[in-house]
Order: sequence, then C-alpha cells, then structure tokens
Amino acid sequence: MYLLNIDKPTKSCTLHFLNCHTILLEGTKRKGIDHLLEDGGWIKFTSKEEAISSYDSEYKGFSFKDCGKCMKRDLA
Ligand SMILES: [Zn+2]
Repeated sequence: MYLLNIDKPTKSCTLHFLNCHTILLEGTKRKGIDHLLEDGGWIKFTSKEEAISSYDSEYKGFSFKDCGKCMKRDLA
C-alpha cells in the first residue's frame, strides 16, 4: 500500500509507503488520513500507478515527488 500526501498550501504531492515513519510526524488536524481536509490529506492507493494517475487527473499544477526516506527502496 502507498500513501499520497496531498499538501494544498505548498501545492505538492509526496508518495510514501504506508508504513513510512514520517507520516505520523506530519499528522495535523487540517490534514486527514484517507480523506481530504482543508490543507489536504494522505490518500491510500494500492499501487504507485494508481496514485500517479489520480495525481495526473486531480492535482495538475502540484509538484510530485517520491518520499526521500521510504521510497528510496522502491527502484522498480
Ligand atoms: Zn516516506
């Protein structure tokens, strides 16, 4: 499973593995898990392709990057 961190204030999306340790550190009341709040949220996806296609259709203009911590292992 993957989590896409959608951050509206900075207009950025960051893709994480679900177990990435940075996710809990970033938790706020303005960003939901699996649903979007005022500042965005973390949305679950079963594949990287699914996350990217959602980003392509819904978050044009946002930047997109892989998490520098957990996604380094994903070289496929
Ligand atoms: Zn991560």
